[in-house]
Amino acid sequence: MSAKIAIIGSGPSGFYAADTFAKKLPNCQIDIIERLHTPFGLVRAGVAPDHQGTKNVTRQFERTMNNDNVRFVGNVEIGRDVSYQDLKDLYDIIFLAIGASVDRKMGITGEDLKGVYGSSAFVNWYNGHPDFVDLTPKLGPKGVAIIGNGNVAIDIVRVLAKSTEELEGSDLCQHAEEAIQAVDLRDYYMIGRRGAAQAAFTPSEANELGHLAQCHPVILNDDLTQKPQEDDLKAQKNKEKNMEILRDLNGTDRADKPKTLHMQFWAKPVEILGQDCVEGLRLERTALVDGKLQGTGETFDIEVSTIISAIGYETAPFDGLPMDGGIVKNNDGIVEDGVYVAGWCKHGPQGTIPTNRKESMEMAKLAIEQFNGDSGKKGPAGLDNLLAERNVTPVDFDNWKKIEAAEEAAARPGRVREKQVSF
Ligand SMILES: Cc1cc2nc3c(=O)[nH]c(=O)nc-3n(C[C@H](O)[C@H](O)[C@H](O)COP(=O)(O)OP(=O)(O)OC[C@H]3O[C@@H](n4cnc5c(N)ncnc54)[C@H](O)[C@@H]3O)c2cc1C
Repeated sequence: MSAKIAIIGSGPSGFYAADTFAKKLPNCQIDIIERLHTPFGLVRAGVAPDHQGTKNVTRQFERTMNNDNVRFVGNVEIGRDVSYQDLKDLYDIIFLAIGASVDRKMGITGEDLKGVYGSSAFVNWYNGHPDFVDLTPKLGPKGVAIIGNGNVAIDIVRVLAKSTEELEGSDLCQHAEEAIQAVDLRDYYMIGRRGAAQAAFTPSEANELGHLAQCHPVILNDDLTQKPQEDDLKAQKNKEKNMEILRDLNGTDRADKPKTLHMQFWAKPVEILGQDCVEGLRLERTALVDGKLQGTGETFDIEVSTIISAIGYETAPFDGLPMDGGIVKNNDGIVEDGVYVAGWCKHGPQGTIPTNRKESMEMAKLAIEQFNGDSGKKGPAGLDNLLAERNVTPVDFDNWKKIEAAEEAAARPGRVREKQVSF
């Protein structure tokens, strides 16, 4: 039985599925189809440039590419170069792993002012995603407010607050590093609608905030005495650890650190202030009333020039793809006969690389169980014909390895690579 399998998206969910298919269906032919010239999804374009250890997961993905029956087909976008119907005509199994890259809107006045960015766009900008390399965000002269209390918000604070020396060993793109270091940012605000005990960031990220050479965190509007209430034991432990870390941070001397991270709890943005560009942010204090989060009506303003919302993402759909809100419509991962979905496009932007691994592998196993046998579809050979007819030149894994080698060769001193940002 030679299953023809198309995996759409080369992030962790796509690669883990490919690995499972390659191991469990040795005669299958797998195309990992990716819209960019470069593989690895958010591992390249999302994961923080100073967290190179996390990015090492790509070595596992490279091992998957050692299978002769797995191809990387970069620079091919479903919905632009190849339609959903084309996929169904060519492959027995379609595995959608297209992530969630569209920033959710805050839905408040002033959101269209210059200086407001979604975190997907902003993070993609500093990580060299070709779609956002020209974002040139407006930074300074005042502070930066980051809306959200998750790890992405902390990543952004670190990237903006670290000195050139602290960025040693990272792959922060030169265009971003120069733009950030050119402004004398002094104040960063992390805004959370709820309290420290509910914050979604994880202890290791919270801990890093205490080790920034130039930036001192202060906790606002939370006395750090609330006990976390999580049903899940691991989540409960994480949140208790967060509280311990924040209590320690709160007690530390700021030494002579010139920058401040204001960790503003129990407040939600209600209006972005400014005429042509951002000049401030109006916040409303929040409180729990009968277990429900509510605005108290009391507002206050902070002076900022940049606002980055890190409040979640939605999947970018293509023609014919059934959607349900911001995710691909699915029934426990099944979209329709022979079409499966995993990762952030299945359930929204929750979960880390390891949690997506488990889920993606399980979905691939289900697809194998439900596979009815070779239907005679043309698979990879058919895709090659289609792309040739449409004058689309795909990028294969050897091409990518050349790009990677060039990026490593172009690294500035103390940096691991200089990403190619246009193709
Ligand atoms: C800023 C940030 C930092 C993070 N840091 C960490 C971390 O430190 N540790 C951790 O474990 N997790 C981290 N995560 C979470 C982790 O990145 C995700 O769990 C994981 O990447 C989700 O994998 P995915 O394959 O579902 O989606 P993605 O990684 O987003 O991959 C989707 C891929 O599909 C491609 N694609 C989209 N549409 C199409 C189309 N129409 N045609 C072809 N290809 C398409 C995209 O280009 C992309 O390559 C972070 C996430 C973000 C946003």
